Amino acid sequence: MLKGKVAIVTGSTSGIGLGIAKELAKLGADIVLNGFGNENEIEKVRSGIEREYGVRAAYDATDMSDGEAVRQLIGTTIGRFGRLDILVNNAGIQFTAPVEQFPPAKWKAILDINLSAAFHGIASAVPHMKKQRWGRIVNIASAHGLVASTHKAAYVAAKHGLVGLTKVVGLETAGSGVTCNAVCPGWVRTPLVEKQIDDIAAEKGISQKLAAEELLAEKQPSLDFASPEQLGGTVAFLCSAAADQITGTTISIDGGWTAR
Ligand code: NAD
Repeated sequence: MLKGKVAIVTGSTSGIGLGIAKELAKLGADIVLNGFGNENEIEKVRSGIEREYGVRAAYDATDMSDGEAVRQLIGTTIGRFGRLDILVNNAGIQFTAPVEQFPPAKWKAILDINLSAAFHGIASAVPHMKKQRWGRIVNIASAHGLVASTHKAAYVAAKHGLVGLTKVVGLETAGSGVTCNAVCPGWVRTPLVEKQIDDIAAEKGISQKLAAEELLAEKQPSLDFASPEQLGGTVAFLCSAAADQITGTTISIDGGWTAR
């Protein structure tokens, strides 16, 4: 389905981004991996994707908090592969604290990585995608792009902003062959959430298992985590012809979180 197409997945050395990159590679897309981590581990993942799915996979270490560098990543990819068809804005970080104690530096980092990086990437990719008359932009927002929780001022602000950006870009690209949508996951058990499970376990003096159950019970009526593979499948659907008329909107994969 995606043979000959080129996809950038930001923050794809771990968690949801890696799940999405593998799913797109499985469908034949060449992949640009991005994110931080151990050099050898990343190389193992990169070469593993090439071997397993018979596609080209490159790794780019761009720091998503640097807007200019994000713009360069788009140019470098087009230079290297000759095209760019799919941009998945996935890189994201979390930090929790009450608003009056929220460190300004954390606020800035979360806004830069979770929101502004998508703006810079989209701004650079759209002219190229419009020229091709085909493009898919998928922003990995969150249930926190639609509703709020305490102690997540920067994250909720960034993810609501990302949903807003998605709507604007959906409108601006409508009819051009380019679509822009946001995916809104509930809890997915990745390193980002593992830390929050650790915090609950430490705070309440309970096991990881109980802490994970508490985390789910508070928000996710299905009482089960969504998986990176399921997120990958949703992005693949948005890249399919069935989704040609889906743009400027959100898809929730949250076990019922935002239905309450
Ligand atoms: P994760 O911590 O497992 O992965 C985050 C990825 O982003 C990693 O590859 C990391 O190296 C990369 N990254 C972090 N800072 C970066 C930077 N400055 N430049 C480049 N790469 C950077 O987290 P995850 O849970 O897979 O989260 C992925 C996305 O999904 C995030 O945007 C997150 O907000 C969103 N999300 C996650 C959940 C969840 O429950 N895990 C729920 C809703 C939304």
